[in-house]
Amino acid sequence: MAVLEVGSHHCYCKQERHATKLVVLTGGPGAGKTAVLEMARRVFCGHVTILPEAASLLFAGGFPRHPTEAGRRAVQRGIFHIQREVERLAVEESHAAVALCDRGTIDGLAYWPDAPESFWHDLNVDPQSELSRYDAVIHLETPLANGGYNNQNPLRSESAYEARIINDRILAAWKDHSRRSIVSSTTDFLDKAVTALKRIASELPTCCHGRSTEVIESAAPKA
Ligand SMILES: [Zn+2]
Ligand SMILES: [Zn+2]
Repeated sequence: MAVLEVGSHHCYCKQERHATKLVVLTGGPGAGKTAVLEMARRVFCGHVTILPEAASLLFAGGFPRHPTEAGRRAVQRGIFHIQREVERLAVEESHAAVALCDRGTIDGLAYWPDAPESFWHDLNVDPQSELSRYDAVIHLETPLANGGYNNQNPLRSESAYEARIINDRILAAWKDHSRRSIVSSTTDFLDKAVTALKRIASELPTCCHGRSTEVIESAAPKA
């Protein structure tokens, strides 16, 4: 049996080259996206590749951040094109079954300073075909800090409030995707992570399931 020795878990499927599906993991600030990606890295076989976040690549490279509308548009155009290329490379060369995207191009709508139509027009893309590039979308909801807006702690609750606004803008941006699942914030983060990991697992071909289901189940909180 062929064993593909990439990733932290060996894969026993003989088909070492899979056609690559793009699956997006997105969500509002503080929703735990990074932690879920880290868990995915450990749980799944090497046929799940995790793509770097475009915004991080852009800012690590020193892209200018102007606090103006023109500056915000420049950043979003930059992110859009980097994201497209990172995804394209995964589809062309990774042979992974799932390329897990740390946000997708549609997220840019949530940060665009003008109307959505202007985003599509500026980037010269059709919204429907852009959405259809992604096989599935998983949205992790930003939790409500202390159950919601808390006047006792203005500084902290203000940022929690803003995080929820961004969460809602990202929800709106992806609203027309036919295969989106929303993982609501629960009091237990692990419960939320397990739900997201199961959703990712459901996108994998059976040959790549391996022990991932077992590993995810063992991480699940016991009721
Ligand atoms: Zn595999
Ligand atoms: Zn496989």
